[in-house]
Amino acid sequence: AISLDGLKAVVTGGASGIGLATAELLSARGAQVAVLDLDPSSLTEPLLGFTADVSDDASVRDAVAGAAERLGGIDILVNNAGIGATGTVADNPDEQWHRVLDVNVLGIVRVSRAALPHLRNSAHAAIVNTCSIAATAGLPQRALYSASKGAVLSLTLAMAADHVREGIRVNCVNPGTVETPWVGRLLDAADDPSAERAALNARQPTGRLVTAREVAAAIAYLASPAAASTTGTALPVDGGMAGL
Ligand code: NAD
Repeated sequence: AISLDGLKAVVTGGASGIGLATAELLSARGAQVAVLDLDPSSLTEPLLGFTADVSDDASVRDAVAGAAERLGGIDILVNNAGIGATGTVADNPDEQWHRVLDVNVLGIVRVSRAALPHLRNSAHAAIVNTCSIAATAGLPQRALYSASKGAVLSLTLAMAADHVREGIRVNCVNPGTVETPWVGRLLDAADDPSAERAALNARQPTGRLVTAREVAAAIAYLASPAAASTTGTALPVDGGMAGL
């Protein structure tokens, strides 16, 4: 099993879904973990919760400084906080574009900027961004969300190039549809939730949704010293959707 003994990790959006599964797995593998979320009150020990809104620079700077102080540094940053949007370019108003890009793209920029000075002091520094298969799949009814994740993919590659000489690796995971509260909300909003679930299952060649734990395992690997020669990559965790 992958060991993260002695490493210090920050996970954004870690109070739910993929982020929570990741925080729990990193902790189980020996890391000390701080979670940054809008509402970290549901978290239990040993996870450390910090209130932060990734769309607010001052709140990010405070939370990252607080987490680094409590942990005694930062080796691993998982930029996972994100929000969804459905619709075509005909549907989403400018304000919604600004909001989703502010959280999904600039959120990564803000948290990374605040964490970089700490990551530079680490001998095993790694950033893992939660991207999505939407970055490359051309999914219908996901124009804004796909554009935001396309930016996350490009940003991951650019950051990998910028920081490789500093010893900081930057990768992302591209999940397919993952069983999380987010998908629960999507199904609740559908006209026919069971037909929608069947459609989501059918979209993945494995015939089922991805589990949050499976995405967490990919993130834990990319964050670990075992992946020391891997940077600037996107690892699909999508039940085969992306193909080879
Ligand atoms: P989720 O809604 O279960 O969890 C998201 C978490 O992020 C929540 O705890 C929420 O409070 C937090 N968050 C949202 N906005 C925030 C902000 N401004 N500041 C701080 N925290 C904030 O969702 P999830 O399904 O676990 O998604 C997590 C990530 O995975 C997202 O980036 C999403 O785009 C990506 N993703 C999800 C799926 C999927 O099918 N569920 C697929 C591909 C990618």
